[in-house]
Amino acid sequence: MPAQPKYILLTLGEELLLGLTKNTHLTYIGDQLRQGGQALHANVTLSDAPADIEEHFRHYWEKADVLITTGGLGPTIDDRTKEVIAQALEEDLVFDQSIQDSIEERFAQRGLKLTQNNRKQALRLEQAVALPNPNGTAPGLWLEKADKILIMLPGPPQELRPMFESEVVPRLRKLGLLQSEENYLQIRTAGVGESALETLLQPVLRKHEGLEIAFCAHPGMVDFRLSLPNDPDSRDTLIEIGVECQELLGDDFVCCGQDSIVQAISKCMRHRDLSLAVAESCTGGLLASEITNLPGSSEFFLGGLTTYSSHAKEDLLGVPEEMIRQHSPVSSEVAIAMALGVAEKLEADYALSVTGYLGPGGGTEANPVGTIFIGLHSPRGTWAKRFSFGGTRIGIKQRALNAAMDWLRRELTATKRIDDQSTEALRAESKEIIRSLK
Ligand code: ATP
Repeated sequence: MPAQPKYILLTLGEELLLGLTKNTHLTYIGDQLRQGGQALHANVTLSDAPADIEEHFRHYWEKADVLITTGGLGPTIDDRTKEVIAQALEEDLVFDQSIQDSIEERFAQRGLKLTQNNRKQALRLEQAVALPNPNGTAPGLWLEKADKILIMLPGPPQELRPMFESEVVPRLRKLGLLQSEENYLQIRTAGVGESALETLLQPVLRKHEGLEIAFCAHPGMVDFRLSLPNDPDSRDTLIEIGVECQELLGDDFVCCGQDSIVQAISKCMRHRDLSLAVAESCTGGLLASEITNLPGSSEFFLGGLTTYSSHAKEDLLGVPEEMIRQHSPVSSEVAIAMALGVAEKLEADYALSVTGYLGPGGGTEANPVGTIFIGLHSPRGTWAKRFSFGGTRIGIKQRALNAAMDWLRRELTATKRIDDQSTEALRAESKEIIRSLK
């Protein structure tokens, strides 16, 4: 078996092809392998038709070192995967009393009677080991044959995931086919586009021979992954390269890994014992919702006011009626008054506000649909910025959220720099954070 085995995933199920169920096994298993320094070579989704399963199984069994199948292990007539694969591998299907016992025990615990078709689930490929399924009746199967591994897993995610972590990962680790850490470094950035990012990183890319980089853009952020495929012990070198990239990126560096901007803010505010409040008009509570999606948000988030009407802005945030009449509710003046109003009302160190035109109707000549004003209050001042976004109502709301959060993140970095009296101290601290990723 090669050190970098070829992992192939066959996801079975008509409902996946019909778009009725999202193929979350791909993202889950892909993520599990990535965390262990491996990558899926391919994922193919098939119907439950025996002829399709047979054709594709034979083809990918030839190509793979480790072939993983998901689904089709149930007791019903359409679950033919085991029979078809047994035939393709010239394996007998044998009745396994210990599987039958655990199915019976599970049924007895629930006061249910076993039906004849459940006996089918007690069959296993003769040379395979059954992987216990404490969350369902169908066990998984693990077969080592012809210097390859076949792993068959049940379809329901609540059965597959615990089985993968408790049965599959330890076996793969024991065989040296999965490591305990990733062999690449992911850096998350904001405020710089993909092509500008690639240009910016050129000095680092030129300096390190064999360094590979892959970009992935998300709304408001671009990630890049660094790897040294020819160096099996590359972790330390990658971390040093990560520090170099961070220096080049300055405030456009968000974090190493997968943290969202809101998570980065949360970590920073909790660590520094700071508080946040939000006042939202057109985003209608989206900022508050994103923040409160994070566990532990109560440690820094004081609350949010959704003030959609002018009356609510006046009444709840103390925005002067005269200001709204003179400048309109979508203006930098009102965004500033909203941020200040909520900060004062909730006694928050930092506050964000959002007001804008989502469309399709509304807007003015000067501020057409897509114009968003974001207000930010921090201990060193209160400001507003004007943004112009395209897209649907929901898309504009999402962009407003990203812009607001990224501005807050940058302000937190700036105030920390002032608090620490030195950019060097801050840089040294974040270098330490990257190095601690080991
Ligand atoms: P069961 O014993 O429930 O029949 P099974 O092993 O035969 O399990 P399937 O019948 O293929 O599996 O799927 C069972 C459930 O798991 C379905 O709700 C299905 O939508 C879900 N499922 C199957 N494959 C995937 C996948 N790739 N991603 C997410 N969900 C999936």
